[in-house]
Amino acid sequence: MNPLLEVENLSVAYGAIEAVRDVSFVVEEGQIVCLIGANGAGKTTTLRTISGLLRPRAGDVRLRGRSIVKSPAHLILSEGVAHCPEGRRVFARMSVEENMLLGAYTRKDDAGVRADMQRVFELFPVLGERRSQKAGLFSGGEQQMLAIGRAMMSRPKLLMLDEPSMGLSPIMTQLIFDTIKELQGQGTTILLVEQNALAALDLSDRGYVVDLGQTTLEGPGHELLADERVRAAYLGA
Ligand code: ATP
Repeated sequence: MNPLLEVENLSVAYGAIEAVRDVSFVVEEGQIVCLIGANGAGKTTTLRTISGLLRPRAGDVRLRGRSIVKSPAHLILSEGVAHCPEGRRVFARMSVEENMLLGAYTRKDDAGVRADMQRVFELFPVLGERRSQKAGLFSGGEQQMLAIGRAMMSRPKLLMLDEPSMGLSPIMTQLIFDTIKELQGQGTTILLVEQNALAALDLSDRGYVVDLGQTTLEGPGHELLADERVRAAYLGA
């Protein structure tokens, strides 16, 4: 066991609204781990807390055994945690290249940044072919590729993806999920939040079900896929 990320008894509130209640999970180095659960279960809030955008009411977040729960977001990013937010959020008036360079803003190694940009273009050729076009001209799926590419530009150890398949066609979703697997093969650890429970569990080494702010079930992806409670609640079976 070699935990890269440990989330322990995390509770997060927006004023009186308790969005996350006592959530605990572990992401081992090299794994794909997914959080699945209904709308409003607290998945996005969990990711935003890990990346330092929200402060928890209680609990701890450790990266390689060291607490990051009080660290500012830019330090968490430079320690290797990249966050690809829900709804893509690319900068529409900036070009593909400019968006990607923003993802590398904490880095000083220009040659490494250029090499990583090339790597993203190999992963998603359409971005390379249209690198000087404004991001707002791209389709939803292409913007999702750009959002993932931008997150890769910080050379993360842990890449957190919030609903990467949202609003995408089945073919585009498959492409994004294939890419996530490829990134894992290249050594990136992935924490995935998904509504598409079937595809996410199929891809993941480990899954956690989040319900009303709490983790209620956990296990290897294929075991959760076969679990009757998961099938009834999330797979429509
Ligand atoms: P979805 O899959 O729909 O994105 P989620 O599991 O990611 O859902 P969160 O977005 O983390 O869930 O929301 C958890 C709870 O916190 C919900 O009840 C939501 O309404 C509430 N919430 C989220 N953001 C805020 C906010 N900025 N202010 C107040 N309440 C919020």
